[in-house]
Amino acid sequence: MNPDLTGNNNRVIAIDGPAASGKSSVSERLSRHLGFLHVNSGIMYRALAWSVLRSGIHAEDARAVIRHLGEIQMDCGISGDKATLTVDGIDPGSELKSSEVNAGVSAVSQVAEVRDVLVAKQREYLDVADIVMEGRDIGSVVFPDTPYKFFIDASIEIRALRRSKEGIVDNLAARDAIDSNRAVSPLVAADDAVVIDTSDMTLEQVLAEILDHLHQSGFNQLNEK
Ligand code: C5P
Repeated sequence: MNPDLTGNNNRVIAIDGPAASGKSSVSERLSRHLGFLHVNSGIMYRALAWSVLRSGIHAEDARAVIRHLGEIQMDCGISGDKATLTVDGIDPGSELKSSEVNAGVSAVSQVAEVRDVLVAKQREYLDVADIVMEGRDIGSVVFPDTPYKFFIDASIEIRALRRSKEGIVDNLAARDAIDSNRAVSPLVAADDAVVIDTSDMTLEQVLAEILDHLHQSGFNQLNEK
């Protein structure tokens, strides 16, 4: 039997790393391969930034951001094999990837009270499913007890190239700086995480390396598709 992390037998694979490191693509593929639920924790921080900006609040105004979080209804759920999110009943969809949200999200994410609320929502997913969760602090803070932790990295040049190919305006260096230097739950590879530099790797290679490590650490393969 695998470690019982929550009072049930659900397992979590933590995938952390900086923006555009390739963690979303690999998390998606890995979750499909294993039949696990894919949860992108960044979406929660993005949804709050989206709602904050829409309400005319400055993302840097921590007190107003905390107040706003208390006033909105952020529902995180599951539909079929997908994690879902609405704010006051609205699915922000592709607006979560806008340049405005990219520019404001790291400011709201550094507020301790925001993290407390969103981390609690992230943990609830493990009560109901086996999950692959991606983020910045999944292995270090959200699920420190999981034996399955990966830190996906790539050079800043490669990451910037990936974003520009997607046609997305995203100041990666600025986000990296805030995410890595904030006082609460900074972006960091957990001591026991497997670090993979994807700069010169294909998605298939990254997936294969992760599966290799999982199998070596005794991961139960029964669910694999
Ligand atoms: O992963 P993504 O780039 O969508 O994350 C958007 C932002 O959300 C990050 O730049 C970071 O500020 C924040 N974030 C975080 N902790 C997480 C996931 C995302 O602080 N676990």
